[in-house]
Amino acid sequence: MSVSFEMYGHIAVLTIDNPPVNALSHHVRQGLVKAIERVNKDAAIKGAVIIGAGRIFIGGADIKEFGKPPLAPHLPDVINTIEACRVPILAAINGAALGGGLEVALGCRYRVGAKTAKTGLPEVNLGLIPGAGGTQRLPRLIGALKAAAMITTGKPLDAEKALSAGILDAVFEQDLLEESITFFNVKLKSGEIRPALSTITTLPFADPKGFEALTKKTKARARGQLSPIKALEAVEAAHLPFAQGLKRERKIFMDCMASDQRSGLIHSFFAQRQVGKIPGLKTSKIREIKTVTILGAGTMGVGIAMAFLDGGYAVQLFDINRDAQDKALARIYNTYKGSVTKGRITAPQMRKRLDNLSAIFDMQAASNSELIIEAATENMEIKKSIFRELDALAKPSCILASNTSYLDINILAKVTKRPSDVIGMHFFSPANIMKLLEVVRTDSVSDEVLGTVMQVGKSIGKVCVVAGVCDGFIGNRVLKSYRKQADFMIEDGAMPQDVDRAMRDFGLAMGPFQVSDLAGIDIGWHTRRREDATRPKNERYVDIADKLYDLGRLGQKTGAGYYSYKDGNRTPVDDPIVEKLILDASKRKQITRRTFTDTEIQNRILFAMINEGAKILEEGIALRALDIDMVFIHGYGFPAYRGGPMFYGDQIGVKTVYDGILEFAKTDPKSWKPAKLLRTLAKTNGRFSDP
Ligand code: NAD
Repeated sequence: MSVSFEMYGHIAVLTIDNPPVNALSHHVRQGLVKAIERVNKDAAIKGAVIIGAGRIFIGGADIKEFGKPPLAPHLPDVINTIEACRVPILAAINGAALGGGLEVALGCRYRVGAKTAKTGLPEVNLGLIPGAGGTQRLPRLIGALKAAAMITTGKPLDAEKALSAGILDAVFEQDLLEESITFFNVKLKSGEIRPALSTITTLPFADPKGFEALTKKTKARARGQLSPIKALEAVEAAHLPFAQGLKRERKIFMDCMASDQRSGLIHSFFAQRQVGKIPGLKTSKIREIKTVTILGAGTMGVGIAMAFLDGGYAVQLFDINRDAQDKALARIYNTYKGSVTKGRITAPQMRKRLDNLSAIFDMQAASNSELIIEAATENMEIKKSIFRELDALAKPSCILASNTSYLDINILAKVTKRPSDVIGMHFFSPANIMKLLEVVRTDSVSDEVLGTVMQVGKSIGKVCVVAGVCDGFIGNRVLKSYRKQADFMIEDGAMPQDVDRAMRDFGLAMGPFQVSDLAGIDIGWHTRRREDATRPKNERYVDIADKLYDLGRLGQKTGAGYYSYKDGNRTPVDDPIVEKLILDASKRKQITRRTFTDTEIQNRILFAMINEGAKILEEGIALRALDIDMVFIHGYGFPAYRGGPMFYGDQIGVKTVYDGILEFAKTDPKSWKPAKLLRTLAKTNGRFSDP
């Protein structure tokens, strides 16, 4: 049964029981309406309580119903039925009341919660707005400004915050149902029952200035995502009479429902659930990992160490350079101290993490570990010698992983006598923050090791994407292809700020030149020097970044790169020195500079991404198009509302991309070679996401 009915004296208790999250599935909506009808018919009933079975009140809409034609009773009607019930109803919020779950509670006269209650309207994260009265009732309960802040961010409030915001009337610590009934009985006896929120006809905007500031902040934070702005519009409509406001909310909700952004966010949501599932993986046996040793205590080693400490693992850190190791320990300490100061973690949490960390001064000490991650200098000879040594010292079931960005991990596997235990764990910088982990599947790795690493990655909060071995795996290989186009464009007529602005306008967190300045111009320089020997002689080579390197402009860390940065400020400032350097570069190659529209810049970069993505799919480096999408959303600041580059390609049509590439190829056939898969899909009107 999805909604059970029990009497406690003269109070009816309706318990929603729809595991695993008490979603508002069709049968739950039906069950609620039937239960209210029963309450309405029984004159002995003086009030009703809605509560969730288990640890959740109502988790929201049923994701299994997404994309299917909605079946009556629809949620807004269910909530209207709750609100119009003959007797008052109280929501006893035992856990998460999210989305439609909170909207149901807002249809009740009172809301009380357990300490574990969590209330939120996270619809904006799926490209929607609350569509069952949430944008109209919440402002009537807590004021437009507070409601707008909650709805535009989608962030839930815990019980304490919900109580002080006025969403909850009380928080109970013992027996929620019993205490709720006692509370309710007092209210019922008092005879002064609070009116339904919909009866508050007009809502004065008490703080227009605050609202204006929130609008500004929301727009800046949205990075082109429309749902938070639409949510604001809906909340603003709460000053209309309720029925009109509700109508407005419905219209905005339906517009969002039909939008490309909503499809992109839904794709991102499902892709994130799908990406960890590896088709054909033959084992469910997982090795137990307790102690992780990290070799190399540089930028990456420090981040990886913190990622594992945050996940509760025991971590050992080693570097051949004692000074680097000392600095790494100091950085970890300072980062955690900063987190305590900012209130992100508590002092005891910091202590626990630091207790779990030890510096080791001899690689032999790694022999107690179940997982060893090499994050040493990007050099094949160094890494080979580390893997040989690890092979000799690690215990038999130990997994040996490399964090290399580009090098061939199959070669590293081959220098050991245990190639089935060797794998890539490619973290992104800063590794304790970035959610992406590319799990690089060597030719020899066992399913058990692959499965274990996927599980370990998940346990430290990463989105794990399987990638095959190739130069740059999924992310850096695609990055390289579009970086090349960005370089060509600045030599042909654009400026870094033009390219970066166009890509930010598309929704990327940063443009490619800002990314270079953040990562460090020296990183790319070293990569290019490694490639010098193998780069085809006739390949177009843009040397602007080399000139910046020669000038010591290594990016943010030196205060100058493609941009200049004033007094440690991270805001990029256009720099005439760089502009001159670029104009000189064009002159040296006798290029007549031309203008690029934002659309052309975006197309050149995105089509290059999609084309390389198609090649990666053809070669089996990525398992599915959605894996490439996840890499870019979680590792490269690609906007989730675009669904990732491959989904974006599907959305605008693979043929559009293919035709665009043929057009670009007219003037530059060498760098614009369409992937076979692209051509096939364009000819058959197919999609990358087709099974
Ligand atoms: P880094 O130069 O900051 O740190 C490398 C550290 O390795 C140095 O402290 C060095 O002393 C140490 N080291 C060298 N040889 C060693 C050995 N034999 N044993 C133990 N330690 C040794 O470099 P990084 O940026 O942290 O990169 C490390 C690895 O991670 C590289 O393979 C790199 O390609 C990869 N990576 C880097 C990034 C990034 O953004 N920096 C991102 C992903 C992956």
